[in-house]
Amino acid sequence: MTRVVLVGPPGAGKGTQADALSQKLSVPHISTGDLFRRHVSEGTPLGEEAKRYLDSGELVPDTVTNEMVRERLAEPDAADGFLLDGFPRNAKQAEVLGNLLAESDFKLDAVIQLEVPEEVVVSRLLSRGRGDDTEDVIRRRQQVYWSETAPLLDYYHDVLIKVDGVGDVDDVSARVLDALHARR
Ligand code: AMP
Repeated sequence: MTRVVLVGPPGAGKGTQADALSQKLSVPHISTGDLFRRHVSEGTPLGEEAKRYLDSGELVPDTVTNEMVRERLAEPDAADGFLLDGFPRNAKQAEVLGNLLAESDFKLDAVIQLEVPEEVVVSRLLSRGRGDDTEDVIRRRQQVYWSETAPLLDYYHDVLIKVDGVGDVDDVSARVLDALHARR
C-alpha cells in the first residue's frame, strides 16, 4: 500500500499527515503546493507562472501542474511508492495520474480522505499564517476544493478510505495506518 493520495479540504492536515506517514511508510511525501512554493521562492520560470494562482487560491493550469508531477514521479525515490498531497485536484489531473501509473503497470493503492469539519479547517488555516492564508484566499481555496476536487471522491470510490482527521497528529496517523493495513 505505498501509492497513496491524500485528499481533503485545505487545512485538513494533509501536509502534516503526509510528513508523518512518509517516515513510517518509507516513501516520499510529494506535495504539489510545496513544489510550487519552492519554484516561486527560487524564481524559476515555472514559479513566475504559478505565483498569481497561488496568491489568488486558484488552481495552477493543468498543463503546468501535470508536467511538474510527471517529472517528480519519474525521480528514483518515487519508484517504489509515494504519498501525494495536493494532487490530483481535478478530474483531468486524476486522469493524467492514472495514465502515468498505468505506463508502469501501477495503480493507486489507496486514496485517503481526511475528514475535518469546516470550522476546524478554517481556524487551522487562520492560525497557520502562510502567505496565501488570508481570509479571501482561504475562502476561494475552499470553494475550489468543493467544486473541483471533492468530485474525485466518487471517482476514487473503490480505493477510497475515509479517516477522521480531527485530533492529535499522532492519533490521526495511527488511524490512517490502521486503515491502510486493514485494506491489505
Ligand atoms: P496547497 O499547498 O496544497 O494548499 O496548495 C497551495 C496552492 O498551490 C493552491 O492554492 C494552488 O494554487 C496550487 N496548487 C497546489 N496543488 C495544485 C494542483 N494539483 N493543481 C493546481 N494547483 C495546485
